[in-house]
Amino acid sequence: SLPSGSTTIRQVKLEKECELRVEVTPDAPLRLRLLKGTAEIFGTELPPEIWLTIPPRQKFAVFTWHGATIEMDGPTETDYTADETPMISYVNVHAVLDARRNRAKASPSDSDTSQGPRVIVVGPTDSGKSTLSRMLLSWAAKQGWKPTFVDLDIGQGSITIPGCIAATPIELPIDPVEGIPLDMPLVYFHGHVTPSANVDLYKVLVKELAQVLERQFAGNIESRAAGMVINTMGWIEGVGYELLLHAIGTFNATVVLVLGQEKLWSMLKDVLKTKTNVDVVKLQKSGGVVSRNAKARQKARAHRIREYFYGPANDLSPHSVIANFSDLCIYRIGGGPQAPRSALPVGAEPAADPTRLIPVNVNQDLLHLVLAVSFAKEPEEIVSSNVAGFIWITDINFESKKVTYLSPSAGNLPGKYLIMGSLTWYEP
Ligand code: ATP
Repeated sequence: SLPSGSTTIRQVKLEKECELRVEVTPDAPLRLRLLKGTAEIFGTELPPEIWLTIPPRQKFAVFTWHGATIEMDGPTETDYTADETPMISYVNVHAVLDARRNRAKASPSDSDTSQGPRVIVVGPTDSGKSTLSRMLLSWAAKQGWKPTFVDLDIGQGSITIPGCIAATPIELPIDPVEGIPLDMPLVYFHGHVTPSANVDLYKVLVKELAQVLERQFAGNIESRAAGMVINTMGWIEGVGYELLLHAIGTFNATVVLVLGQEKLWSMLKDVLKTKTNVDVVKLQKSGGVVSRNAKARQKARAHRIREYFYGPANDLSPHSVIANFSDLCIYRIGGGPQAPRSALPVGAEPAADPTRLIPVNVNQDLLHLVLAVSFAKEPEEIVSSNVAGFIWITDINFESKKVTYLSPSAGNLPGKYLIMGSLTWYEP
């Protein structure tokens, strides 16, 4: 790596099936281009000779199947070449999925066989789940499929801000700079960065999302044949494991890809052995995956929220909106004021309906909270509705009874009802 501020241009020659692993510095982007040969970033081919500007903090690899020369301009945190990667095994998985998509496409009238592969990627934190999901989607899109990407990782999602589960069709290989296109994602708001804050709500939302996709698939032969790739959380013990089984069942996954953990693979293989239509496949973790500690994860979350309001390249200008307390209809889902233990019969546990809707008056705790704007038309629909977007509470004035919030656009919000959880953001 080079000292900060250096702009020395250098070339890296990659042999076939090797990759250049790079961590971009936190303070400056890196320019990079393909000079010779062919290469890809997480499944998306690089255009020849065109400079790409990779944003700060990004960790990525440029992989070549046949050999390539890469040119870099700018400092990096680290960059090195690796000749051992699991890419061959990953692309073999892609080939199997591709064959299944072709088979599905060839029998459009049969509701069973017309379903393409439903792939779920599981494994511990930092095993490369998001990256493998991305590669499988980009390789499929390159061949003209439009697979659906489902992201169940509410801690570090790649479709929208944290605290959500979401799905979106992938129509083109994912751009290494722009990421997942955000035209019309289907988003459900959990409101917390871990499901343990309300496990039942998480399950309810997973079910809702699965049902909506099922309906879309029923009417769309093309996306049905392309199937889906589902990314999951790195929480694989205890309740986390239950949630994986729940997701596998709810989405009727047919291929379970287990990254980097023998034990999880053998457990899943065992519980799923009666399901003859489900393949449980063990895959090696890439040595290039960069581990992130709690602090790095927290930072990445804050960064995602910032990106939502200000754009990936600081190219959006959110609006500051002032509203009366009485204009806001805010709800919280689950938990809430329970009967005190002293008011219950001896031995009884206070019951909190995890999906109960609780109206919230404006109070100090809302400051710096990120709220979701629900598509619900009635309060009863809030739990089962997807969300249009998010606002961020920046000021509360109890004298004038006014709330100031940041919104991606000026004008009326796309829905009347707001959902709060525990998702906060502090502008750095
Ligand atoms: P989590 O469970 O936290 O969601 P994950 O298992 O999904 O993590 P990824 O997000 O895929 O892991 O990878 C972690 C980080 O490592 C990402 O920043 C990713 O870009 C980077 N990374 C993955 N593979 C490589 C590679 N071969 N070379 C360089 N960086 C990589």
